[in-house]
Amino acid sequence: MDSIGNVTVPPSPEPRPDDTVVPPDTVLPGAGVPDSFGRLWTPHRLAYIQGAGKPTGPGAHEGCPFCVAPTLTDEEGLIVARGELVYAVMNLYPYNSGHVLICPYRHLADYTDLTAAETAEFSDYTKRTIAALRAVSGPHGFNLGMNLGSVAGAGIAAHLHQHVVPRWGGDTNFMPVVGRTRVLPQLVADARKLLADAWPSQPS
Ligand SMILES: [Zn+2]
Repeated sequence: MDSIGNVTVPPSPEPRPDDTVVPPDTVLPGAGVPDSFGRLWTPHRLAYIQGAGKPTGPGAHEGCPFCVAPTLTDEEGLIVARGELVYAVMNLYPYNSGHVLICPYRHLADYTDLTAAETAEFSDYTKRTIAALRAVSGPHGFNLGMNLGSVAGAGIAAHLHQHVVPRWGGDTNFMPVVGRTRVLPQLVADARKLLADAWPSQPS
C-alpha cells in the first residue's frame, strides 16, 4: 500500500491490453482491494499523454505517427489493412465508431504529390474501407475527406490522410455539440479487429 497524505492507496493492478470498463466492486486478478469505483482502462492513451504521436517537426523522422504506425504490428499500430503503397488505420481520436484513415506510406503532405499508382490504391483502399464498414456496422452514410494544411484542420498536416467516417441517423446529438464529448460505444481495438476480418480481398 502506498500513502498519499493520510489516504492509503492500493497498488494499481497490471494494465489491461486496451480500454476495458470494469464495473464497481469487481475483483480483479492481482493485488488490490475492490471498491465502489468503476475503472476505465486506457493504457494506449498513456503514450499520447506522454507526447508520443505528436510530431516534433514536419519531417518523416520527427515522430510522425503515420510513419511510425506501419513499423508496428497491426494490433499495436491499429492497422486495418496494408497495401503496397497505402494502408488503412484506425483513428485514435475517432469522430465516430469505426473512423478509419487511409495513408500513403510515403511521408508527403499534398494530394497532388501522390503518384498515379498511389492515387489508385488510395482510392481503392477508401472503397474497401467503406465496404468493410458496411459489412460490420451498417452505416447509413459516410463522410470522406482530406484536410490539406493545418489551416484546413489537418491535425498531422505533414502526412496526407483521408478520413472515412461512418455516419448513422441521430449520431450527432447534444453530447458533441454542447458537451464537447464524443460518445463512442465501440473500443478502437475491437473496431480494428472487426474491420480487418471483414476487409475485402478484391478491389471493388
Ligand atoms: Zn509521416
